[in-house]
Amino acid sequence: ATDLVVLEDVKKYYPVTGGVLRREIGTVKAVDRIDLKVRRGETLGLVGESGCGKSTLGRVILKLEDPTSGKIFFDGQNLANVSRKAMRPLRRKMQIIFQDPYSSLNPRQAVGRIISEGLVIHNAGSFSERQERVRYLMELVGLRPEVIDRYPHEFSGGQRQRIGIARALALQPELMICDEPVSALDVSIRAQVINLLMDLQQEFHLTYLFVSHDLSVVRHISDRVAVMYLGRLVELADKKELYTNPLHPYTQALLEAIPIPDPEVKKDFKGLVGDLPSPLNPPPGCHFHPRCPYAMDVCRVKVPAFVEVHPRHHVRCFLLSGQTQDN
Ligand code: SF4
Ligand code: MG
Repeated sequence: ATDLVVLEDVKKYYPVTGGVLRREIGTVKAVDRIDLKVRRGETLGLVGESGCGKSTLGRVILKLEDPTSGKIFFDGQNLANVSRKAMRPLRRKMQIIFQDPYSSLNPRQAVGRIISEGLVIHNAGSFSERQERVRYLMELVGLRPEVIDRYPHEFSGGQRQRIGIARALALQPELMICDEPVSALDVSIRAQVINLLMDLQQEFHLTYLFVSHDLSVVRHISDRVAVMYLGRLVELADKKELYTNPLHPYTQALLEAIPIPDPEVKKDFKGLVGDLPSPLNPPPGCHFHPRCPYAMDVCRVKVPAFVEVHPRHHVRCFLLSGQTQDN
């Protein structure tokens, strides 16, 4: 199949309690009716402000959390039907790289131990075979194997992220969820790490879901880009199409916020105004309406459908489709 991951109407809702009695005061719809396919070998950029649900979506795909409803297929298998035991070999095929290479590495473990963690858990090879594989992985990500016995604090942020990447690669995954992997790094280091990820993708035919709050970060690496706002997808298109012809007012505002001017990008909009509303009880209708310069009456009461307005270009906005969807 060309699709490695298929999400069908996936929801992840959290009840929220408050007050001394811990009464339920509402629901956060962190992931709200997402339909999305990740094609084998592509990089799908997933962009939105922090708190929009993109990390939760990654965790649900990895089955670190169960969805409230909806179906998730990995390599054609419905993850809901996969037993705990059958999940083990599947887990090896899905790995994650975290935002913060400082807190995601155990400070009391040497690099060799960190990178071989998955190999140990999955009982892969003898000790010396694992050591050999760790050295190979270190070279692959640009670390000298001589530093195998050093501890995370002895490395720079960029090097720590390389350690995290080596750890994720150890079990030969097919899918890598990259959750803001360069956001904590110096700007000068970001391109190096992104280029490394691109080289590794080529070499090992990896599929990436690349999560970021920043459209400029995913631009270089992505084949397609999906934009999320308060739990919902609002736009999805091939990279070039998204950056040169952004159609959703939210995407337009995010692009406007990128400091480096890009002559290819439309500049006839105002940028993002106001704060991200609380995901608890978000605005009705189109969640974006309080911040949208084009909001109409219908936007405050009805949810726009996610519609393919051009081939391979999906948008959720009444400006682009008259269609409505009951919530
Ligand atoms: Fe703006 Fe309405 Fe489109 Fe939402 S549906 S983005 S409020 S125009
Ligand atoms: Mg996040």
